[in-house]
Amino acid sequence: MNSSFNNNLLTLKSTIEKIANNAPSDIKKSTKPTLIAVSKTIPIDIIEEAIIAGQNIFGENKVQEAEQKFSILKEKYPNIELHLIGPLQSNKVAKAVSLFDVIETIDRDKIAQAVASEIQKQQKNTPCYIQVNTGLEPQKSGISPSEALDFIKRCQQEYKLNIKGLMCIAPQGQNPAPHFAYLAKLAKIADIPYLSMGMSQDLEEAIQLGATHVRIGSALFGKRA
Ligand SMILES: *Cc1c(COP(=O)(O)O)cnc(C)c1O
Repeated sequence: MNSSFNNNLLTLKSTIEKIANNAPSDIKKSTKPTLIAVSKTIPIDIIEEAIIAGQNIFGENKVQEAEQKFSILKEKYPNIELHLIGPLQSNKVAKAVSLFDVIETIDRDKIAQAVASEIQKQQKNTPCYIQVNTGLEPQKSGISPSEALDFIKRCQQEYKLNIKGLMCIAPQGQNPAPHFAYLAKLAKIADIPYLSMGMSQDLEEAIQLGATHVRIGSALFGKRA
């Protein structure tokens, strides 16, 4: 048993609870933010220790890497909920829909359409989040903020995706708060319940601004190689 993971998990859970309890009253909810353990680059045996320690929600950013690890793990532990948190290419859509329980990175019409038709084909009702490039960073995926509301509407009405959340990654080296506040405002306007925002570095700001899901890698598993 990996005791450092256990310690990290307990510490992180109590940190999340503390921050959530101290959040402004309009943010505070009856349910605490959900912890998504980001297991990219983490080997399968360590992930299994995390599962044994009680963590069952994981995030991976690459379809192929996720498949190598989680096709095995999900067979052994059917309760696992796996989130795709990295960019999705058209040629990986079928695999992604069959493997992931939540797809957090819908960010353009072509992908929205492909995911929708694959979900129908596989007779699923996969919850999807829309990734918003709040920092307008050219190297980052995500729909641009000015197009987001129209895109959300198309995803819901035209493509009939089950849009449950919005997701963003705050730009490095900037104050993350305006980005999280912006995403929260967008979710409110569009009447979308979930907000996936906050990573190891900025989970406090994210929770204070209403994150329902935080995506934590290094604070749980240690620094990635
Ligand atoms: C890697 C990653 C995370 C986790 O980052 P940490 O800083 O290790 O907590 C969260 N979200 C996405 C999209 C990632 O790629």
